[in-house]
Amino acid sequence: MVIEFLFFYQHSKSQKKNSTCSTKIMQIKDKVAIVTGGANGFGAALARRLVREGARVIIGDIDKKSGQNLETELNQINKINAKFVFCDVTNFEHLRQLFETAQNTFGGVDILCNNAGIAQPNEFYDQTDRWKKTIDINLNSVIKGTQLGIQFMKKHGGGVIVNTASMSAFYPLTIAPIYSATKRAVIGFTQSLRDLNDTDKIRVNVVSPAFVDTNLTREMMAKSELFEQMIKKFGLVPIDEVINAFIMAIQDDKLAGDTIMLPKANRLKIMQKS
Ligand code: NAD
Repeated sequence: MVIEFLFFYQHSKSQKKNSTCSTKIMQIKDKVAIVTGGANGFGAALARRLVREGARVIIGDIDKKSGQNLETELNQINKINAKFVFCDVTNFEHLRQLFETAQNTFGGVDILCNNAGIAQPNEFYDQTDRWKKTIDINLNSVIKGTQLGIQFMKKHGGGVIVNTASMSAFYPLTIAPIYSATKRAVIGFTQSLRDLNDTDKIRVNVVSPAFVDTNLTREMMAKSELFEQMIKKFGLVPIDEVINAFIMAIQDDKLAGDTIMLPKANRLKIMQKS
C-alpha cells in the first residue's frame, strides 16, 4: 500500500507489515545526518535534499574542493546547515571523526548514509591487488561506519542507517566482479541487522540502484567500452528517483533490514534476461 514509488521492496517482511498497518513517517526536520561520499553524485544530491527538508548534515569525503564548495552552498549567513569533514572512509579514525564532529557541532547523529564507493574496471583480472581497495571502501567502511553509527545512535535512543548497494549485486557486472561482490555483501550485511530495530530502535536499510549519471559512471564509461554499451542498452535512472528511495529508506518506520531496488521490477526482469 505504501509503494506508489517506482521501487519494490525485496524483503517480504515489510510487505507483510505494510498490508496490515499504516506507515509512520520519521520527520527529517532538525535531524542530524552523516553522508559519506557526500561531496559528489548521490551523496551531494542527498545532502542537498536533507538540508532542504530541515536537517543538518556532516559531509564526509576525500574530495576537499567539492566538499567545501557544497558546505558553502548549503550554509546560510546565520545558520549552519552543513559541515564538510575530510574523511577517507578506509581510515577508521577519520570515520570516528565524522561522528565526533556531528556530536560536537550538532549534538548527536540520527541518520547515517554509508554511501562512499568506487568502481574500477578490471580490478580483478589484471592480477594486481587493486581489488582490495574496492573492498576497503565499498564494504569494510560500511561495516565500521555501521558499528560506529550504532554506538553513537544508542546514546540518543536510536536512528536510521542507510547503505548504498547497486543493481550489480543481483545482475552481474562482468567487468567489475569485486564491485558486484561488495554490493551483494552490503545487502546481506544490512538484511542481517534487521533486529536492531527491536533491540535498539536503529533501522538499517539499503538502496540498490541501477545506472545513474554521476562521476562514477562517466569514469567507468571512459575506461570500458563494455560498460558504455551496457549504459546505452539499459539507460540511466534519474538521480532524483535514487534520492527519493533514500528518503523513503530513512523515513518509513516499517523498513528495517530492507532493500529498495530501482528501477521498478519489470525493468529489472528485462535486464535479467539479457
Ligand atoms: P561519485 O563518484 O559521483 O561519488 C562518490 C563519492 O565518494 C565521491 O565524492 C568520492 O570522492 C567519494 N569517495 C571515494 N573514495 C572515498 C573514500 N575512500 N573516502 C571517502 N569518500 C570517498 O559516485 P556515485 O555514483 O555518487 O556513487 C555513490 C555510491 O553509489 C557508491 O557507493 C556507488 O557504488 C553507488 N552506486 C552508484 C551507481 C551509479 O550508477 N552511479 C549505481 C549504483 C550504486
